[in-house]
Amino acid sequence: TQEALRQSQKMEAIGQLTGGIAHDFNNLLTVVTGNIDMAVRALDTAGVAEARSRRALENAMKGAERAASLTHRLLAFSRRQPLAPKAIDVDRLVLGMSDMLSRSLGETIRLEIVTSPGLWRVEADPNQLESALLNLAVNARDAMPDGGELVVETANARIDEAYTAVHAEVAAGQYVVIAVTDSGHGMSRETVAHVFEPFFTTKEVGRGTGLGLSMVYGFVKQSGGHVKVYSEEGKGTTVKIYLPRMMNSQGADDEASNGASLEKS
Ligand code: ADP
Repeated sequence: TQEALRQSQKMEAIGQLTGGIAHDFNNLLTVVTGNIDMAVRALDTAGVAEARSRRALENAMKGAERAASLTHRLLAFSRRQPLAPKAIDVDRLVLGMSDMLSRSLGETIRLEIVTSPGLWRVEADPNQLESALLNLAVNARDAMPDGGELVVETANARIDEAYTAVHAEVAAGQYVVIAVTDSGHGMSRETVAHVFEPFFTTKEVGRGTGLGLSMVYGFVKQSGGHVKVYSEEGKGTTVKIYLPRMMNSQGADDEASNGASLEKS
């Protein structure tokens, strides 16, 4: 659609701009960190035990390191790494991430993974799928400061014309759906309307870049899929990623779901 085209052109332009700035900024940061390092060494060799100078330098270093990690994220966003698609068993990929996910969610958030026997294969870049899921988990964590639950659930889905007539955001076809649901604070309608825009964030400066969901969007679109956000304030959020079924694969096809969305086999 027109809107999707405008969105992707906007992302392209922003990607190039941020890529250029992030790259130069990163070079400047190495000048800053290099000089801080030299100052610390100079203090050491001169045998100066000046705690305040040292602390100030440490703080400057921490700031520079935070800035560097921000530029790395910007670079990863703008580089639009060429996708390296492979046949993926999504259930295996998700289960393989469970340790990493639980660790990033912390102790107060329970992680549940619901796999789906006979799940179709998809063809996508596994590294990018992992980073998309990690992004969703980090957002979910931020939405549950007092703890809660994150459920990652997979399913085969045959989307037919009747369904797309109501849900225009998905094209008819066969998909593997990954639904990521949190019990967090949810989003207002206004927020839902903007979540995929690059740099849209409701988080405080330094916490959010506003790039997480636009990266997810870019990856899913490039993979021929769809992504949809359902959210209710005070209740929680579900992000559904639809990746097209890989057609010439050996994956099991013994289920006979039809009609609308998430039908478990
Ligand atoms: P960031 O997380 O850096 O702000 P994102 O693009 O990942 O950038 O998200 C944009 C905004 O969407 C967030 O600032 C937040 O307001 C909202 N959001 C995303 N995921 C969730 C979620 N699971 N629950 C509530 N709000 C969310």
